[in-house]
Parts: sequence; structure tokens; C-alpha cells
Amino acid sequence: MKAIVFKGAFDVAYEDVPDPRIEQPLDAIVRITTANICGSDLHPYEGRVGMDSGMVLGHENMGIVEAVGAGVDRIKVGDRVSVPFNLACGTCRNCNEGLTSACLRANPSGQPGAGYGYPAMGPYRGGQAELLRVPWADFNLLSLPEGTEHESDFTMLSDIFPTGYHGTELAQVSPGKTVAIFGAGPVGLMAAHSAMLRGASQVFIIDKEPDRLALAEKFGATAINFSTEDIESTIMDATQGFGVDSGVEAVGYQAHDASGQEHPEMVLDNLIAVVRATGHIGVVGVYEPEDPDAATEGAKAGRIGFNFGQAFTKGISIATGQCPVKKYNRYLRDLIIHDRANPSLIVSHELSLADAPDAYSHFDKRDDGWTKVILHPAA
Ligand code: NAD
Ligand code: ZN
Ligand code: ZN
Repeated sequence: MKAIVFKGAFDVAYEDVPDPRIEQPLDAIVRITTANICGSDLHPYEGRVGMDSGMVLGHENMGIVEAVGAGVDRIKVGDRVSVPFNLACGTCRNCNEGLTSACLRANPSGQPGAGYGYPAMGPYRGGQAELLRVPWADFNLLSLPEGTEHESDFTMLSDIFPTGYHGTELAQVSPGKTVAIFGAGPVGLMAAHSAMLRGASQVFIIDKEPDRLALAEKFGATAINFSTEDIESTIMDATQGFGVDSGVEAVGYQAHDASGQEHPEMVLDNLIAVVRATGHIGVVGVYEPEDPDAATEGAKAGRIGFNFGQAFTKGISIATGQCPVKKYNRYLRDLIIHDRANPSLIVSHELSLADAPDAYSHFDKRDDGWTKVILHPAA
């Protein structure tokens, strides 16, 4: 089959790899109809987290079930499914508590949590390919209505729509609350959409990319361009000096200033400044335990020097981690089916799998208009 293969930093190739096959009785093979490129794919793409050459990329996948193992009885050949990026066993203590992002059995390294096509997340190949092997298929796969309707919306259910929603859950967004979201990439945009769905009264979104900020306004958010506006005074003026109730971090460890210089503590400091005393912060942007190319000595070992003293003084709660996709995906699917949510608004490019190497380069540079790329391997 054809797949997108990681070769080295800034180098991915469209090439032939062996077809996946049923390896365990609980496996399924999914023919991928849509796979997305994610901001998280850019961490290995840029060589900022070590990925083995030869790995097939892609953890945002959906498609049609092509084959099932002897032990699979809920999912059937021909079913249309969304594949959560967390791959989980369904029977360990964390899975039983709904914490599929910290499955204790799926990652052979012993680290809690596994995923497709990602360093340190287990040996599982990604879905930027014609076919994908899905372990524990009955547990992991989300059933979708048959046909092709809402394809570009449903494809956001594997990761970024639940992840953006998770950011608002961690930040305890509820009706009437005010929210500041840092980062208007795909995850931040989904957090803005989710905050509005949860009934927030005012949603601010902060970035420096005008095309992304314009999309955020379509979801009803108030855009703040940090390269031309002062974040703190704008938010304080708009909230009677009070600050926002909730803050979402959707940037991650490569947070940078308007000139592009990285400051890994910058967004955490901004959040602690604009969230009110006793407010809540949800951090879904990724921070790495090791980052040899980091801007500060501490950050090279995952130690981010942010204003924890101020956070303590204000009594702010900070929650973080990967999204347990299965906790939210069926409800978000139903919002799409009933036309209450339309995450596909962020899609800028629908391409064939062969176009992916070029798309990686544009998306990585945040080139104007490249907000979200979805790939159709079958096309
Ligand atoms: P992205 O890189 O496309 O978006 C990040 C955005 O942050 C960019 O638009 C950038 O301009 C902006 N930004 C940079 N510095 C900033 C600053 N100082 N203030 C405000 N904005 C700033 O990526 P994405 O796909 O939207 O993902 C965002 C983060 O979420 C990444 O770290 C990604 O790895 C992570 N992620 C986490 C999970 C999870 O389960 N927790 C899942 C998916 C993605
Ligand atoms: Zn992703
Ligand atoms: Zn498990």
C-alpha cells in the first residue's frame, strides 16, 4: 500500500510499505477514507522529538472496516468508523475509569498511553496510508452513520475536536463563563468552538496568524493578535479588570514571541496573568519531558520556568494531559449529526495522499491559508 513515511527532519515521503494484516483476534483493518495532518505531527517532522526513520505517520484517522479478527463481534466489515488517536486495551484499570489516554497495557514500553504513528507511543503505524491496523477494535472504534455525509466534520473526531473540548473541560468552562484560549491552530479553534457550545459568554482567542484568527471569529470568538495588541490590558479592559474565568493552552512547548523567538514559559505566564483568582487553566498544548533543541537550559530537560508563585497566590487550578478521546467523541459526533457543531469550518486543504509531503512543508511554515489539511488516501 501507499503511505506517508518519516525519513528524517523535514523529510517525509509518499512510498510503498507492506499492507497491515490482522495480527491479533481483536484487531481490525480500516481502509482510510480521510486522514489529517496534525500540529503534533510537526514535532517529529521538525526533528524536535526523536522518530525512527521508516515510521508511517498519522493519528487522525477514519475509514471503512475492511477486515476483522476472529474475536471482534461489535464492529463489522463495511462499517464506517472514526479511530481515536489514543489506542487503548479497554480492560486495564485506567481504561475502566475512562482514562484511555493513559492505558496501562497498550504501550509495550510501559509508559501509560499509546497512539498511532507517534514517537514513544508504541510500535503502531499511522493512518496517513491506505490501510490501518486497529488493535482492540470493538473497544476503540466509534461507529458513524453510513455513507459519505459529514466526512470533513467526522474526521475531526479522532483528535482535535475532542482535544479542544477537553481543554474546555479541564478549564471548567460552563454557561456564562469567560474564556481565553491561547493558540488559534486547529486545536485552539476547536477549543473556541467547544467553549461556545458549552455556553461561554465571551471567548477570547490569542495568536499572531491573521487567517487563523479570522476563522476563530467565525466560531464567535473575539480575536486578539498578540503581535499588535497587548493581551493583558485587552482582556482586563473587557472583563472589568477581573480577568477570565477559564484559560486554555493550545500552543505547546514551541510558544514564541512575535519575532518567532521561542519562550516555552510564555503562554503559561500569560494565562496566569489573565485568569482570575480561583479560576481554571486547561493545558492541552504538548510539553515534552526532553527537548534538546529548547530555548532554555531547563526546558531541554522539560523544566519550564513559569510563574507558579503567582498561580498559587491566585489559587488557580492547572490541569493538563492528553485527551481521552472516547470520553467525548460520541457526543461530539451527535452534535455534528444534528447540525449543532461544524468543525470542518477550519479545513483549508483537501488533498490526495501523494500531496502530503508538500502539505507538511506549508502547514509547518504556517503559510497563509494553511489552517488544516485533510488527506484522502483512496482518491
Ligand atoms: P499548531 O502548531 O498548528 O497551532 C499552534 C498555534 O499557536 C499557531 O497558530 C501559533 O501561531 C500559535 N502560537 C505560537 N506562539 C504563541 C503565543 N505565544 N501565543 C499565542 N499563540 C501562539 O498546532 P495545533 O494542531 O493547533 O496543536 C496545538 C497544540 O496541541 C500542539 O502542541 C499539539 O501537539 C497539541 N495537541 C495536544 C493533544 C492532546 O491530546 N493534549 C492533541 C492534539 C494536539
Ligand atoms: Zn492530532
Ligand atoms: Zn487499557
